[in-house]
Amino acid sequence: MTNSKFEEIARVLREHECFAVLSHVRPDGDALGSQLALALSLQQLGKKVRLWNEDGMLEKYSFLPRAELLTKPPEAAEDVDVAIALDTAIQNRLGTALTAVRSAKTWINIDHHLSNPGYGDLVYVDSAAPATGEIIFELIKNQGFPFNRDIAENLYAAISTDTGSFQYPKTSARTFEIAAELVRAGLDVGRLNQQLYENYPRRRVELLRELLRTMRFEHGGRVASFSLSLKTAAKLGVLPEDNEGLIDHLRAIRGVIVAAFFEELSDGKVRVSMRSKSDTVDVCAICQKFGGGGHTLAAGARVRGTLPEVENKVLEAACDVVKCDS
Ligand code: 5GP
Ligand code: MN
Repeated sequence: MTNSKFEEIARVLREHECFAVLSHVRPDGDALGSQLALALSLQQLGKKVRLWNEDGMLEKYSFLPRAELLTKPPEAAEDVDVAIALDTAIQNRLGTALTAVRSAKTWINIDHHLSNPGYGDLVYVDSAAPATGEIIFELIKNQGFPFNRDIAENLYAAISTDTGSFQYPKTSARTFEIAAELVRAGLDVGRLNQQLYENYPRRRVELLRELLRTMRFEHGGRVASFSLSLKTAAKLGVLPEDNEGLIDHLRAIRGVIVAAFFEELSDGKVRVSMRSKSDTVDVCAICQKFGGGGHTLAAGARVRGTLPEVENKVLEAACDVVKCDS
């Protein structure tokens, strides 16, 4: 797969009027921040921009500048000139945001997932980028698109959340240079980080307490996991967005190479979230065995079965891979 050039993407952006900027279901900070940043830049150029996500704007990211622009997709599908999928490894993960686009002359796919097959007319997938927000920054700067503090805050949120606060291995010198430019645009690092990381609802920490009760270790402590049943989720009143990042508590344990989080869903499936701490243990490959995907060190899948069934078969697959690594 060869990437389109930024110039080609920029030309399509400049030459059209009506855009839909989309990202994946159950969005994270990278998805929502990248969407808002690109949409704000296009709006500044005078473009008409639809900003849709199946889940709408999450409560926890509603402090992002111009968050109100991002909505759930409309019931009636609309025609646009250009539809842009951000941070979305497979087109289906756009969910109802995909079906809300009745027609688009051009589809653009900008992403950083290794497993992205390169759907769309113009594709820019850089699996070395730690966040889609980093690619959006490069595109905006490289092509001289409008940039301001609101855009910078959205990009900072995107990059900070997808790098685990600039900690994960894909965080590069360039990432820090970009962060410096974002700070120079006038954003308040302390305030933004407080909004991102020190403003959790209490139920998120109550959820962590329940998850830790289910924590188990396999393979001499190299594989760690915890799980969330529908019953516990209902008891605590958790929202799907509450668990973003909780898996890092497992990854943080000495000796753990693979961390897994299992969440029972109401459709008879289990959502699997997986992390690796070793370059030679590819959790994307493990998740792909179960129909999922993602990155080498962070991946996921939705697997049919009961919680114990899915836990057992996925942990077995993870142990097999860790065994080969040790
Ligand atoms: P998370 O564990 O944070 O939900 O997801 C980690 C990574 O795996 C994300 O980059 C996400 O896009 C990808 N991912 C999570 N769930 C799925 C899934 O069901 N299918 C695919 N293809 N990728 C997923
Ligand atoms: Mn991302």
